[in-house]
Amino acid sequence: MREKKMVYDIIVVGAGPAGSVAAYTASRLGFKVALIEREAKGRDKYCGGGISKGALDFLVNNVSKEVRETAETEPDGFVVFSPSNRTLISSFYGYQGILVRRSVFDAKLMELAENAGAEFFEKTAIASLSKKDGYVALRTSGGEEFLGRYIIVATGVWDSLGEKAGIPKLSKEQFGHCWGTEASFPVDSYAKYWREELGVFPIFIFFGPVKSGYAWFFPKANHMNFGIGTTLVESSSLGGKHATIFNNVLENAVRLGVFREKPSFNIDRSLLIPFSSKPRQTLYSLNYRMLLVGDAAGFVHPVTGEGIYGAVVSGWLAAHSVREAEETGEISRLAGYEEKVWEKFGRDMFHYGGKLAKLLYSSRTGLEIGLRGIMEDGRAVRLLAKLLGHADEKVSEEMYNYVLRNIPSLAIKAILAKKVKKYV
Ligand SMILES: Cc1cc2nc3c(=O)[nH]c(=O)nc-3n(C[C@H](O)[C@H](O)[C@H](O)COP(=O)(O)OP(=O)(O)OC[C@H]3O[C@@H](n4cnc5c(N)ncnc54)[C@H](O)[C@@H]3O)c2cc1C
Repeated sequence: MREKKMVYDIIVVGAGPAGSVAAYTASRLGFKVALIEREAKGRDKYCGGGISKGALDFLVNNVSKEVRETAETEPDGFVVFSPSNRTLISSFYGYQGILVRRSVFDAKLMELAENAGAEFFEKTAIASLSKKDGYVALRTSGGEEFLGRYIIVATGVWDSLGEKAGIPKLSKEQFGHCWGTEASFPVDSYAKYWREELGVFPIFIFFGPVKSGYAWFFPKANHMNFGIGTTLVESSSLGGKHATIFNNVLENAVRLGVFREKPSFNIDRSLLIPFSSKPRQTLYSLNYRMLLVGDAAGFVHPVTGEGIYGAVVSGWLAAHSVREAEETGEISRLAGYEEKVWEKFGRDMFHYGGKLAKLLYSSRTGLEIGLRGIMEDGRAVRLLAKLLGHADEKVSEEMYNYVLRNIPSLAIKAILAKKVKKYV
């Protein structure tokens, strides 16, 4: 049990990307910060480990360029398969990000937060909260007490602290479910094969194995991240066919020439993700001087499932929102966090991303036609590259408006679509 009294301006709970960036930013703004993580430093998290160009640029510009060093690979293209295996092979047009191991990437962000002055407590799980002497008191499962004037909740998809503060939790319909593996794989030799066959070193995305989602192969340094993700409602209705779908995707990938032979992958990971066109209903509690960030707030893109962008940007915004409350002496200013989120990425991610998700994922036929139309339209393919790379703050709006404006011509292109379309 620690002896000293643990009193902080800001306590950040959870040291994933959202929490570490919040702690880093708040420390740089001059606050006394505690960053509390229930697991040990270097903990892993089941994730594709795709850091989009948008997320990477944000981190390089607002945290440190050292984040770049965590890259294992930097695919310069993508291959998308429609439900009927129509194939798009495309360059990223410079919109690519990096692929990382989350254990390494997250540890780097934790280290940067610590170096900026945040006190880091690992293997420390916050179990409850209450109000005490003008502070919010957070108690660990071991009975220790931390006092904070502000709390930033970055506890991820399983958050319960927000709910304890009276913030409604995400509903079942707002979750997605992913299953897959991160297994050893001869990426180096395949990189050569893919470059020869496809002209790029790509990520692979299969639309169709599941409704309202996709399967992916992300090649990293000598291992492959392979996963399938869909809504939790859809996953629950699969009646245990997860392993069959996993196997079908692998066999299909061999048939389509992605692999020379079937890799011996097994499902060894499974996790929920917030995946809906709405984030959490409320993002703050004035009573507990609390702001929610990252997955705890539901900030995942409803089309791509990208969550690290929302995590790091919201962490940064939360720290700045606390500063505003401090500078003005008005706690009610914390409420402005919601507006900041909406302006910076929420409107694009949920309003337009939500519309785009509806267009794409409502039916298998719609998905097939939509993808075929996009594949045949050079401008739409560029926009898809930009969306996957989250390379612009308004990219979902741009893509949605483009698709909507061009539905008739995209539909005609879909009818005439070729089996394979290449933009390399
Ligand atoms: C299979 C899968 C693939 C994905 N692929 C991608 C991808 O390729 N690219 C992308 O951008 N996004 C991806 N995502 C989403 C991304 O992983 C999340 O959006 C991101 O990790 C959210 O970051 P976070 O900091 O909010 O939460 P997390 O990274 O989950 O971190 C939360 C932290 O809080 C800690 N914690 C929880 N409760 C407590 C407590 N009570 N006390 C102390 N600590 C606590 C946890 O131990 C954890 O370390 C994927 C998600 C899944 C499930």
